[in-house]
Amino acid sequence: MPLSPNPNDRDNGLQVLVVGGSIGGIATAIALKAQGHHVKIYEQANSHDIRGGGINVFPNALGALRNLGVDLDDIRATKVKKVTRFLVSEEGDSLVDSDTTLDKDACVWHNTTYRDLLEALRDRLQDPKAPGPRADIFTSQQIVRIDPKKGILFLADGSEARGHVIVGADGVHSMCRASVSHGNMQRFRLQKGVFRAVIPCERLLSEPKVSRFIQDSGQAFCYNLDHKSLLIWPASENENVCVKFLYDDLTGFKSLCKDWREPSSKMKLLRLAQGFPEECIALLNAISGDALQDQPIWDMDPLRQYHVNRLVLMGDAAHPMPPHCGQRVAMALEDAVALGVLLERNVPQDGVEDRFKLYSGTRSTRSSAVQQFIRGLNEADIWRGTGAFHGSAFRTYILGHDERLHMSRTLGIWKIQQAFQQDIPKQAVAQLRETPSPQQKPQDSKPVQRPALQQMGRSRSWLSRLKSPKPPAAITSS
Ligand SMILES: Cc1cc2nc3c(=O)[nH]c(=O)nc-3n(C[C@H](O)[C@H](O)[C@H](O)COP(=O)(O)OP(=O)(O)OC[C@H]3O[C@@H](n4cnc5c(N)ncnc54)[C@H](O)[C@@H]3O)c2cc1C
Repeated sequence: MPLSPNPNDRDNGLQVLVVGGSIGGIATAIALKAQGHHVKIYEQANSHDIRGGGINVFPNALGALRNLGVDLDDIRATKVKKVTRFLVSEEGDSLVDSDTTLDKDACVWHNTTYRDLLEALRDRLQDPKAPGPRADIFTSQQIVRIDPKKGILFLADGSEARGHVIVGADGVHSMCRASVSHGNMQRFRLQKGVFRAVIPCERLLSEPKVSRFIQDSGQAFCYNLDHKSLLIWPASENENVCVKFLYDDLTGFKSLCKDWREPSSKMKLLRLAQGFPEECIALLNAISGDALQDQPIWDMDPLRQYHVNRLVLMGDAAHPMPPHCGQRVAMALEDAVALGVLLERNVPQDGVEDRFKLYSGTRSTRSSAVQQFIRGLNEADIWRGTGAFHGSAFRTYILGHDERLHMSRTLGIWKIQQAFQQDIPKQAVAQLRETPSPQQKPQDSKPVQRPALQQMGRSRSWLSRLKSPKPPAAITSS
């Protein structure tokens, strides 16, 4: 469809170009397509190259997924019912530090894998029953430059694409970020690294040493030795075991993998894991070489804004942060839901930048707070509820957040302010105030708790006390 030259055109939906077809890009495409916009996604990787590890799905991520029309069955989620933590001594003995059963009042914690999540999102995007016009994904298409003012993408093959809106969902090493003012800010690498892998359970059946990891469905394990942690949990409806090995990378800047798809060294993993009990070493030995990812942990000071002209950043492109407890993925899903709420079908082309401003202000506040919270923690601290970890802040502010509700309210208030500024008669304002957002359902009007992070007390047993928030209804019902 050619671009409409009329900036006030509200009828045809916007032409949206998304740079990056991973979790953030696809989730945004689902949300914008549901509003009636025409979305094209450009992904540099080959579509069959889906390597990745396990991803924890906590209530804020699950709420965002449900808003996009993706549910637990779609991501083949496995619910965690019990967490056992071990302290490993220098001699290699493991002592049970704690055993926590997650009962019905506890936090709802599910696991998925990157593959299951990405495939579920892709299926949803291409589901003919899902609302909105068809969206296109172009793989093996690298974007080398963008013009955010004119809305042009320049592809590596020399061709161009034009749209009303560009979504920069191109990850931690984002090329789009440099276009946003102050956006050429450098991400930095913490001296920490993480190995990830997914192991099919059937591969473990013949190895008695690892039987504990596949015996009880829904059991997660955490082993701690010095500054290293090995986290093990089930996923894919108990078909897979996910492994996450966090280590302090004091060896210098040797592993500077820029892409998730680069090969990793199992020898390095086994060397770092020396001293862990034999069941752990046997498990690590069972990882097939091409299923292993070794990534440095990237971080970046918060950007002041996430947009310029027709370009808006989301996910890791906007706010790289440590990947603890699935919150990096959760923030990308929340961004997608937020953009879906703000870019309503009837937004005229020349009204888009105002909506981006609202997105920038609102999302950067939340993402920066989550980033600051997670910074300086190590994931084992979060699992154990120790160190500087504040359990109740994590529970209420981070996990208890409903982005659709939050952004719908923000948009409603913003519309009232606009109406006042435009001197609209009081009667119309009253009407506006009473009209719920089309995506807002009355049962969702639970107040969002936002306690000041610094006032939160420490908690050792946060897992067992996390109450499950009511899941929001999906906005994109078919
Ligand atoms: C293959 C892969 C596996 C991953 N596995 C895990 C995991 O196991 N656990 C975890 O916590 N997180 C994982 N992540 C990261 C996780 O997806 C993100 O941290 C989070 O979901 C935010 O997603 P994002 O879409 O913003 O960024 P990303 O997921 O990093 O996606 C960015 C996408 O943009 C593409 N891209 C970048 N530059 C260009 C360009 N110039 N032109 C076109 N395309 C471009 C990249 O190829 C990539 O697919 C993985 C990411 C990838 C790409």
